[in-house]
Amino acid sequence: MISARDIRKHFHGTEVLKGVSLDIGKGEVIAVIGPSGSGKSTFLRCLNHLETIDAGSIVIEGETLATTDAAGHCRYAPEAEARRICRKMGMVFQQFNLFPHLTVLQNVIEAPLTVKGLSRDAIVPRAEELLRKVGLIAKCGAYPSQLSGGQKQRVAIARALAMEPDIMLFDEPTSALDPELTGEVLRTMRQLAEERMTMLVVTHEMSFARDVSTEVVFMDHGEIVEARPAAEMFADPRHPRTRCFLEHML
Ligand code: ATP
Ligand code: MG
Repeated sequence: MISARDIRKHFHGTEVLKGVSLDIGKGEVIAVIGPSGSGKSTFLRCLNHLETIDAGSIVIEGETLATTDAAGHCRYAPEAEARRICRKMGMVFQQFNLFPHLTVLQNVIEAPLTVKGLSRDAIVPRAEELLRKVGLIAKCGAYPSQLSGGQKQRVAIARALAMEPDIMLFDEPTSALDPELTGEVLRTMRQLAEERMTMLVVTHEMSFARDVSTEVVFMDHGEIVEARPAAEMFADPRHPRTRCFLEHML
């Protein structure tokens, strides 16, 4: 589904991604863990073109978003094509990013209406189905300010799903939540995983990484240090940096 090869990215002379390669197959759930500043968010943002890479290649479902030639020049697909390719990925952020002036239902139908040009009649039943799925059908007419953090995040998940992505990217979706609210969001994500959604999840929730993901990727200082099946990674981390990180997290 996603093939990222040797991704390099710098900000103001500092290399933040130092050649990151990762393959994500259909139905896989990959958890990305690692210390603050290791480049996890930057990597996710590069995959769906919220950041531009300096070098490497990104191929999404067989379509090339970015590629680098032998001379080291990185080229992106033309803008309209890049946008179309990136629409295969839905993204959920730490800070929800709901539209405050729109109701829950309006938040969910906004992109399908304006970006995909679907009719209201077509999208409203689908949006209601998604809100039912995340347990928020009763909040259809509420505004984000009237919701708890966990509810906002579940709306954000429904909103991303409304675009019918093939892959979901999550960047620390529970980090802004009070501990008692993380469970409801993790349950929604777990349900998605059980439905075989392809997912790439940056998380500090080690129990989610261990129980739900198919593979765990440990990033440190802009590199993937170790990538292993979840059970192996937690039982027997090989790299000293992984071991040290997990000792502090568990
Ligand atoms: P956290 O766990 O705290 O979210 P992270 O692993 O997601 O950390 P990134 O946000 O990807 O880390 O940041 C990696 C490095 O890149 C950091 O040193 C950060 O300061 C830097 N960085 C990220 N975004 C930018 C930006 N837009 N401009 C300049 N530097 C940036
Ligand atoms: Mg981050």
